[in-house]
Amino acid sequence: MQSALGLALKQTREAGGGRVHVIRLRIGVLSGVVPDALEFAFGALAPGTPAEGARLVIESVPARFWCEACAREFQSEDLLAECPDCHRASGELRAGREMELASLEID
Ligand SMILES: [Zn+2]
Repeated sequence: MQSALGLALKQTREAGGGRVHVIRLRIGVLSGVVPDALEFAFGALAPGTPAEGARLVIESVPARFWCEACAREFQSEDLLAECPDCHRASGELRAGREMELASLEID
């Protein structure tokens, strides 16, 4: 969270230092980040920064895996993902671990 908030504040300064109204984060379901914990951390870090009072919007990113045998992507909520077509386990995670800043609304 600190790095995502740090990035948000850096972008705020580069944009001229207005107040942040909305921070949108993209959080992969397999990132290990708990949205409630993120909100809590944000509440602790934001006071005294341009992001104080901003709304934190968390977009959940589903996990996507690649099946080599079928040459297709599929979604799973689980780290031990099985291809829905050939039922082989996939070892290649393509999305679902991200924790990134999607956008900022600043005035
Ligand atoms: Zn497959």
